Amino acid sequence: MLRTEHLSLSYGDKPAVDNVSLVIPEGGITCLLGPNGSGKSTLLKSFAGLLPPRSGQVFLDNLPVASWNRRQLALRLAMLPQKPIVPEGIKVRDMVALGRFPHRKWWQRNLAADDNITAEAMSMTGVSDLAERPVESLSGGQQQRAWIAMALAQETDVLLLDEPTTFLDWGYQLEVMELLSTLNRQHGLTVVMSLHDLNQAAQFADRIIVLADGQLKTTGAPKEVITEPLIKQVFRVNTKVTLGPSGRPFCSGYSEAAKPA
Ligand code: ADP
Ligand code: MG
Repeated sequence: MLRTEHLSLSYGDKPAVDNVSLVIPEGGITCLLGPNGSGKSTLLKSFAGLLPPRSGQVFLDNLPVASWNRRQLALRLAMLPQKPIVPEGIKVRDMVALGRFPHRKWWQRNLAADDNITAEAMSMTGVSDLAERPVESLSGGQQQRAWIAMALAQETDVLLLDEPTTFLDWGYQLEVMELLSTLNRQHGLTVVMSLHDLNQAAQFADRIIVLADGQLKTTGAPKEVITEPLIKQVFRVNTKVTLGPSGRPFCSGYSEAAKPA
């Protein structure tokens, strides 16, 4: 479904992603990891057709994303940016309903079917009780869930999220990760997200992609990717990696002086 071939991206003359070829597994959770400025957001934008390739291609169903009609693309793929811009004063229900937009013909008003799907999306993300509240009055975690509801109302099979947990406290981070995991398992949603927390990626991802300096460093299952040498090389951090009870890696950082036995 979603893959790139020798994809290079730039902002004007400034290269940001260099010759990346990868495949996003269908129906899986893929996490993009990498230091600040490594190209995670840029790559996600290109998946959503928001940044045309400088060279190479992004393919969705073997067709270059650049050749997709915008509305058709929005029926397949929803993108949640790091800081979504929401119309001032908009209520949760009305914002979630915006997700229905690509499904409507220009002559159609809000249909009952759209209202049902909007309600369903709010219920799946636990924001039904907040439907009448202005989005800006919600807590960070509630806002994140409302944005995910909007993306779900779009009824796509791919959901792209740029650092969905970054501005949340730890409890809300887990809540969002678990919600995405449930949506993936129960509805077969393909999830692609950038994350900062290596352990969250290790815990929830089927596949991890590591970027460094715009280049694909490595990709694979968490156990293959989250290793002490890789983390040292990419994040310049010493870590101890252990395997948790679920067989997934867990890493804890330490300074040279405090090296564990
Ligand atoms: P990440 O999401 O991994 O932190 P980004 O994809 O945002 O990295 O950035 C990759 C590179 O592209 C960085 O060097 C960054 O400065 C640059 N960049 C990102 N957005 C823009 C932009 N809108 N204009 C110019 N350069 C940008
Ligand atoms: Mg980013």
